Amino acid sequence: MPELPEVETTRRGIEPHVVGRRISRLLVHDRRLRWPVDASLAATVAGSAIRRAGRRAKYLLIETDAGTLILHLGMSGSLRVLPASTPRIAHDHVDIELDSGQTLRFNDPRRFGSLLFTAADPTTHPLLRQLAPEPLEAEFDGQYLWKITRRRAVAIKQLIMNSRLVVGVGNIYASEALFRARVRPRRQARSLRREECNRLARAIKATLAMAVKVGGTTLRDYVGADGNPGYFRQKLYVYERDGKACRVCGNLVRQFTQGQRSTYWCPHCQK
Ligand SMILES: [Zn+2]
Repeated sequence: MPELPEVETTRRGIEPHVVGRRISRLLVHDRRLRWPVDASLAATVAGSAIRRAGRRAKYLLIETDAGTLILHLGMSGSLRVLPASTPRIAHDHVDIELDSGQTLRFNDPRRFGSLLFTAADPTTHPLLRQLAPEPLEAEFDGQYLWKITRRRAVAIKQLIMNSRLVVGVGNIYASEALFRARVRPRRQARSLRREECNRLARAIKATLAMAVKVGGTTLRDYVGADGNPGYFRQKLYVYERDGKACRVCGNLVRQFTQGQRSTYWCPHCQK
């Protein structure tokens, strides 16, 4: 599933190809995404210029003169920039054709992705207005984590994956950030000391920033015609490494199920 770093990598990949271009035509081949694509959308955005390719949490925000396209990759979605004449393959659902002769093509086998539109400020859209701070921004820090953990008995891993409190920390990065911060995933959120909150905030930022950086090296895949969405595998400390030696201490990495998701951790390194 695309997580925040993959979405940011996608944003950076498409940005130079779309900003400053006009949408010559929007073609919706299959409206049945997570929410049906509005039938009037093609007429609304045709001819409008793209000003910016932004992101909020895992939503890509393509800002145009007419308003903002809000695109979510869902479980299996990917975007590619291709010559508009490129034949479609299975699960290519939307083409945003540009005046450059290229198209921004959305492919999504499972159709949990979405394409919405707002003429208003996108940050006030119902899907976006309740979102927590961006973990890569300055407002997200140890003080913020300290504040939101004080009264919460929930396990810290589940807290950092709650998008109403922290956006963009999916299952992989939650395990990895807790390892880096040396905090056990099952710890009650409110039991974290101030210093641990500081460490965890730094670890979340470092884990996501590294993933974005590694993703940056595969950007070419996003603009190629090879159909490869280019998701990367960074060097992970614990995720899916159960039974293997911890990269720091050499003891075995363990796995357990938490909130129906697999959690990976090192009992020796994490307290
Ligand atoms: Zn270890």
